[in-house]
Amino acid sequence: MSSPVDVDTLIIGSGFAGLCAAIKLQEAGERDFVVIEKGSTVGGTWRDNTYPGAACDVPSQLYSFSFAPNPDWSMSFSPQPEILAYLERVARDSGTLDRFVFDTTVENARWDGGQDRWLVSTSGATYAARVVISGAGGLSAPKLPAIDGIEDFAGEIFHSARWDHDVDLAGKRVAVIGTGASSIQIVPAIQPTVGHLDVYQRTAPWVIPRNDRRYPAFERAALRHVPGLQDLYRTAIYWGREGYVPAFTRAPKLATPAKQMALANIRKGISDPALRAKVTPDFQIGCKRILISNTYYPALAADNTDLVTDPIARITPSGIVTSDGTERAIDVLIVATGFHTTELPITEHLVGRSGTTLADRWEETGMSAYKGTAVADFPNLFFIVGPNTGLGHSSMVFMIESQVTYIVDAIRSMRRNGYSSVEVREDVERAWSASLQQRMKRTVWSTGGCASWYLDKHGNNTTLWPRSTFSFRGALARFDAGSYRVAATTPSHATPSSTDREESLA
Ligand code: NAP
Repeated sequence: MSSPVDVDTLIIGSGFAGLCAAIKLQEAGERDFVVIEKGSTVGGTWRDNTYPGAACDVPSQLYSFSFAPNPDWSMSFSPQPEILAYLERVARDSGTLDRFVFDTTVENARWDGGQDRWLVSTSGATYAARVVISGAGGLSAPKLPAIDGIEDFAGEIFHSARWDHDVDLAGKRVAVIGTGASSIQIVPAIQPTVGHLDVYQRTAPWVIPRNDRRYPAFERAALRHVPGLQDLYRTAIYWGREGYVPAFTRAPKLATPAKQMALANIRKGISDPALRAKVTPDFQIGCKRILISNTYYPALAADNTDLVTDPIARITPSGIVTSDGTERAIDVLIVATGFHTTELPITEHLVGRSGTTLADRWEETGMSAYKGTAVADFPNLFFIVGPNTGLGHSSMVFMIESQVTYIVDAIRSMRRNGYSSVEVREDVERAWSASLQQRMKRTVWSTGGCASWYLDKHGNNTTLWPRSTFSFRGALARFDAGSYRVAATTPSHATPSSTDREESLA
């Protein structure tokens, strides 16, 4: 076996998270890194989700990197192709792409305590990395429903995140299972094309209007040329969104105006009282992700659409049978049932200091990480978009940038202080998680009367951040070595970064 490629930092994934880490490491003078990416291009979830109607439900002025503003967004909520093109451009302009290794999967990463290195085997080379950053994302592994007979379906079948563009839906009998964020974009996009559409709803979501608009040319020109204007947009959107936090975390009654908007959205889009009743949720707004659409309800009300609320009993080679015994024949089955979120798949491949995979560790305890970033027993491993960093109201890019600031500071601090390893103290990690779970008790996600993918099998919310995003940023502003067990550098690994070298020559 050839010897591993020595690298200082190995980043897994090249979506917003991995790309941000690469750019910020480079800016900090850390040039010895690789980015391992299973796909053929950057983009992560925005590369994989190409379904018709895919768009972001956070305004792009905020859902973009603070250090790479884009005055050319065509809409206030950008469609997927524009977001992907943005990420590709940012990657190109950053000058980091030569360190990206595409079409390569991380198969196993094992901590070698003797060397204070991660031994990372991939479908290509094997790497010995001082630090591993996982930007593998929370929405990367499609979740197929465990429905009897699904593997016997003889027509076309695909998941929303793996859209098969070779399948022509025109005139076909199509079923969509699921009514989450992906489905409510897909349904109105395909309803005018298909012959007949069955939408299988297990739980009705709350859907408020989507106040989207096209940016006229003069506004885009102003955003490009007027100094500070784009920052102003971003700041206004940020604080507008931040204003929703108390409604989720402390006082769900504050969400009453949103509930009124959602009910008005139903009345506007649907005239049939029976259908209105079927789509009206029976839990508190905010308990599950609040969705935004002006076109979903009209698509459900269209003549060629049926909303099916009887539970699915089984799938046959030619259709779907519901619990009342009705079989509905279909040609194409679209599975919009979400992702594996509370058991991040990458954790099956990460083996820590004591020889246990992170998946096994979390199987017992549920997901937890100090500041959503570091886990005891897994030295020199940092997560981006780790446990309890998700948001329902604002931009994940803000959270990603906060975590990357912390991680880059950790790496620089390791170098400056000669640490060969940093491992968060177990008591610190436990206290962090206990305090988050304590806060969770008051949130609408726990009290709102719904079951959601935010909660794990222990009933703990291990996915969302239950405070303001600026408090998250504050907590991650600087690497706090005091919360970690640190080990001193062995001389062979005490390599200065390029910047440190430049500083020491100055
Ligand atoms: P999701 O929100 O998890 O929704 C999955 C849907 O499938 C739910 O309606 C769920 O019903 C249903 N379902 C799951 N298993 C089922 C089964 N066995 N039988 C019947 N129905 C079943 O997944 P998603 O829509 O793909 O969205 C996931 C996340 O991706 C979102 O929350 C969001 O964070 C992100 N996203 C964002 C955007 C955007 O920015 N525009 C777009 C798409 C996705 P229950 O509610 O009863 O569980």
